[in-house]
Amino acid sequence: MPIREVVESTPLVDNHAHAVEPLSRETVTESFASYFTEGDLSQENARHTLNYRAVVDLLAERFGDEDEATLLERRADVDIESYSRELLARTNTERILVDDGFPDVTPAEFAAYTDVDIRPIHRVENAAEELIPNHDSLSSFEDAFVDHLDDVLTAEFVALKTVVAYRTGLDVRRHDRDAIRGAYDAVRADWDGRIEDSVVNDHIVHLAADVAASHGVPLQFHTGFGDADAHPLFVDPTYLYEFLRAHADTPVVLLHGGYPYTRAAGYVTATLDNVFLDLSLATPFVQHGVEPLISQALELAPTSKLLYASDAFSVPELYVLAARRFRADLTSVLERLYRDGFVSERYAEDVARGILRENAVRLYDL
Ligand SMILES: [Zn+2]
Repeated sequence: MPIREVVESTPLVDNHAHAVEPLSRETVTESFASYFTEGDLSQENARHTLNYRAVVDLLAERFGDEDEATLLERRADVDIESYSRELLARTNTERILVDDGFPDVTPAEFAAYTDVDIRPIHRVENAAEELIPNHDSLSSFEDAFVDHLDDVLTAEFVALKTVVAYRTGLDVRRHDRDAIRGAYDAVRADWDGRIEDSVVNDHIVHLAADVAASHGVPLQFHTGFGDADAHPLFVDPTYLYEFLRAHADTPVVLLHGGYPYTRAAGYVTATLDNVFLDLSLATPFVQHGVEPLISQALELAPTSKLLYASDAFSVPELYVLAARRFRADLTSVLERLYRDGFVSERYAEDVARGILRENAVRLYDL
């Protein structure tokens, strides 16, 4: 079978995404572009990312050749549940692993918006933030946190996820007991619902990695670009190197292709056996950059450790943009590698099936 046909026909396992949510009419007509940037941009600038221009084209394909304002009116009028089911059906996705930390629609409620099989992933900072107010000592918190993670992984959750990159950064260190206790007490004394202390955040991630290892499930890390309040330097996945070596029994997934540190992320993935690299969010956000993203990831990392995902959130159009962009660019990269003699056609087809579906099935034991 030609490479293109294998890429087009393989069902996707989307290992990092979020639920669709209902938006107010005003949100769609006035600030739809905000869903296609991770920046803190004015609408005037948000409307001029190439990712947003791609969704305007998608709306025109669905609603007809109208101007942008009319397309947004049409989009605001849809029945979001059936519209979302229609769009997700177009992506040929077999399974979505859904982060339960954002938006407010739970993974279970997401089932109303899609016929695709949903498996939930638990965000560890949210769990910690719910427990901290109820535990006045560090050891009491630790016991409750570990028990809670044990419970969710024994139930239907297939992995854990940390957003530490966008809180205090990826330079996750080991701290001594007195420092952790002091930091925990200070966080509690000044509690505002969010952990901004790096010592406490680092400790939570170490605890989560140990629980993930004991269940044999992955811990996902945001890396590279993402939230607008992240520091662009401290999202570089090379900061995680000591942590990853110290937790060699924990499978770790670096999310977002580490963009723009994609080559560094590929290097780490190629060095440590327990590390995997997901190519989401950069797919589809960087648009014509998705082809070099895939190409760079394939330079050093084993093909068995690369994973497709959309990181779609809130609006179903992101699922379509990601799936289309990724299939088109994976095809062109693999065809080029075959043409230039780096891979056989048969191996290129195995790589396609692996990245789109089978690597995730194996890693998450789906
Ligand atoms: Zn993400």
